[in-house]
Amino acid sequence: MHRKLIPGDLIIATHNDGKLREITALLGPYGMKPVSAGHLGLPEPDETGTSFAENALIKARAAVEATGQVALADDSGMCAAALGGAPGVYTADWAEKAAFEGGPGRDWYMAMGKVEGKLAEQGPDVDRSARFFSTLALMWPDGHHELFEGSVSGTLVWPPRGGKGFGYDPVFMIDGETRTFGEMDPAEKQEIDHRAVAFAKLVAAVF
Ligand code: IMP
Repeated sequence: MHRKLIPGDLIIATHNDGKLREITALLGPYGMKPVSAGHLGLPEPDETGTSFAENALIKARAAVEATGQVALADDSGMCAAALGGAPGVYTADWAEKAAFEGGPGRDWYMAMGKVEGKLAEQGPDVDRSARFFSTLALMWPDGHHELFEGSVSGTLVWPPRGGKGFGYDPVFMIDGETRTFGEMDPAEKQEIDHRAVAFAKLVAAVF
């Protein structure tokens, strides 16, 4: 039996404004008013898990403990088939700038280049297929939690195309499309991406 979510403020355990925009658009129609951990000035917990679910729970739990309110976390990432599923749970880490480069901060072009460099090492016929994964963790103050997962498959392109999205959007072309996520309007992308698949499950369960 799923627990229902009451309309009103909902803490979103993220410091990523790209994700926050998507989540706000997805939850707005259900009367939820997202407030992000980033905007509340909460610290970012270390993502020490080895799966998307573990990391989503770490982030949701940290936000619940800091606020005493229900919190929703998304842990997501991109898995390239030819790289044995990398960067996977380390997707954000691959964009981490070294301190001497002026960090903290994330450099997505560097991260996309790192993926492309590793694909290129395998030659021109390398398998360029990849999946985006999203795991949502919704947690209540009493520790009750629910997980929802979504994924989509596509192809990694090079060079990056389009400046409309965030993260790895400019190199990911979802199956059946000729445009990358970075070339799609956000409203279009967020209806078909991995987070939308996971959100459809959440919406069916908790509203
Ligand atoms: P985390 O979930 O905060 O560990 O970060 C996952 C990383 O995966 C994000 O910071 C993005 O770079 C990448 N990512 C997740 N979802 C998307 C997406 O929809 N488009 C592009 N990149 C994404």
